[in-house]
Amino acid sequence: LIQLFIPLNFLGTVYREIRNALTDMEKLFGLLQSPPEIRDGPNAKPLVVTRGEVRFERVSFAYDARRPILHEIDFSIPSGRKVAVVGASGAGKSTLSRLLFRFYDVTAGRILIDNQDIRQVTQASLRAAIGMVPQDTVLFNDTLYYNIAYGRPDAGREEVIEAARAAHLDRFIAHLPDGYDTLVGERGLKLSGGEKQRVAIARALLKNPPILVFDEATSSLDSATEKAIQAELARISENRTTLVIAHRLSTVVDADEILVLDGGRIVERGRHDQLLELNGRYAEMWRLQQRAEREAASPGPTKVRN
Ligand code: ATP
Repeated sequence: LIQLFIPLNFLGTVYREIRNALTDMEKLFGLLQSPPEIRDGPNAKPLVVTRGEVRFERVSFAYDARRPILHEIDFSIPSGRKVAVVGASGAGKSTLSRLLFRFYDVTAGRILIDNQDIRQVTQASLRAAIGMVPQDTVLFNDTLYYNIAYGRPDAGREEVIEAARAAHLDRFIAHLPDGYDTLVGERGLKLSGGEKQRVAIARALLKNPPILVFDEATSSLDSATEKAIQAELARISENRTTLVIAHRLSTVVDADEILVLDGGRIVERGRHDQLLELNGRYAEMWRLQQRAEREAASPGPTKVRN
């Protein structure tokens, strides 16, 4: 009987492995597959990153030709600097990051990294140069270790643990009975928004890219988590060219340039103080957020049961 059991058990394990791998593939393809028209050109060369300067030159874009989304967006992020994009929901902020990663091609204008048009370089080299911390990180149905190491699958265990420590995940992991071997994803432990974003930060740290795109989570994190994530962002973006898609203005106060997007157009631009001075759209958003924060910090009287 045992002779029969061992192969059957083995088959069960193989089946589970294949099923997990398929789920990973589905997610990867659902998420990372570019539209079919995005292909490497016949003469595509690897991107050569020297300084890591990013430039959007009069970029216009439409997902559907009948509905333009971005209009003549023009800005650059000098090597190692940080540009933040703010604006109402649907203004086109995340679309900018999708274009930089070349999930889509621009309709007009061009995007350059160190003077190379991103349509003329291989997609693999482009994506290797950019670390993405998305709004909502997809976790694979696998261990926490696997999910972090995914940033650079050839990384050694020490490097993975160091990245987790730098993203402030180590204390959280230390309290899990199975530690790094804890299963996460749909069939495992559900991580909070903040914890997921830290996994994405740890992945980005492992990848160690010259360019970083941080798409801030729209879902509100508690203020302690938010502060911690902002501090981590400040640290990992040091000496990297960074594009921040921000929903909370406290994230952008230290940016070298802030772009205010409205209806796919840049309507104001400058540093935080300059924009407050301008007393326009940004100043209005700032006042509203400050007021909301004050109200959240001092809620009205609540009934206490004796
Ligand atoms: P939020 O702050 O809510 O994240 P956003 O400023 O990042 O918003 P985008 O996600 O860039 O906005 O979306 C800009 C516009 O493009 C929206 O009107 C949205 O409906 C549209 N859009 C986004 N993705 C697609 C898509 N894949 N196909 C068609 N339209 C899309």
